[in-house]
Amino acid sequence: MARQLDSVLGHNKTIEKLTSSIATGSLFTSAIFTGPEGVGKKKVAISLSQEANCARSPACGHCAECVRFSMIPNEGYLLLEPENGKIKIEQVRDVIDYLSLRSRLKDRFIIINEAEKLTPQAANALLKSIEEPPQGVHFILVTSNLAMLLPTIRSRCQVVSFSALSTDDLKKMVPGLEDWQAEWSFGRVTLAQKIIEDEWQQLRKTSINFLHRPLDGNIFANMAREFSDNSKFEYIFHTWMTYLRDAMVSHARPHQHLYNRDIESYVHKFADHRNLQKNQEALFTVTSDYLGNVDKNLILENLALALES
Ligand SMILES: [Zn+2]
Repeated sequence: MARQLDSVLGHNKTIEKLTSSIATGSLFTSAIFTGPEGVGKKKVAISLSQEANCARSPACGHCAECVRFSMIPNEGYLLLEPENGKIKIEQVRDVIDYLSLRSRLKDRFIIINEAEKLTPQAANALLKSIEEPPQGVHFILVTSNLAMLLPTIRSRCQVVSFSALSTDDLKKMVPGLEDWQAEWSFGRVTLAQKIIEDEWQQLRKTSINFLHRPLDGNIFANMAREFSDNSKFEYIFHTWMTYLRDAMVSHARPHQHLYNRDIESYVHKFADHRNLQKNQEALFTVTSDYLGNVDKNLILENLALALES
């Protein structure tokens, strides 16, 4: 067992502030951790439970509390995550059960990952606890979509912002990552870990082929298969957005630096044949439809038609 926070790269200032507020006993009761997807927000949230319960600062990594931190189930924190795209009121009951357990720990954490996926009912059921948690309990809502949290929740929490990781940090975390891949990943570890793997490279190809020829039957069918998998959405969407961004840039300023440097000639070709403004609007519609739980196949059909219009 080691100190968890030591394995987090970047975010030095944010971590310093958090640990010093633990040391002075002034840690927030409820907070929102916000920032880009895949930069380590959840990991920092979980690590705070070790940091707060170890008698030393920084956490020592080998006392009884630190060792207990590695056990599952872990008494120090409860993690709620979306099931089938939502965090429902039934899951909030786990929070209430957890809060009713007696604990010898000084601090306990309730971590709600992808908190923007709380249903309004679930969010409302949590309001009172978030406003006045029991002694020693801290709520952390983790999100990359701060604007999608209910204002009533936001107003009750301290906001802790995380920024994207630097290209160098990313390359340290993901060995073998090339420069263009690091930049393409926008400082997100989750994307960097994927872009170096063959399977995900293939998915990038599929996604870009779809942008070029969305109404081709085979290409559409391939894309639809991938798109129906929720765990691939972020990657596919990022692929589309960076590609479109590159097309717009290459059109306006031909010698500007592109993210998709390995396939520049395709980008130029795309830029020459499309109404990029309209294509961009079509992609924005995809996120709002996706978050609004519109049927996946319908989202893709609409996109295909809008791209070609
Ligand atoms: Zn310790």
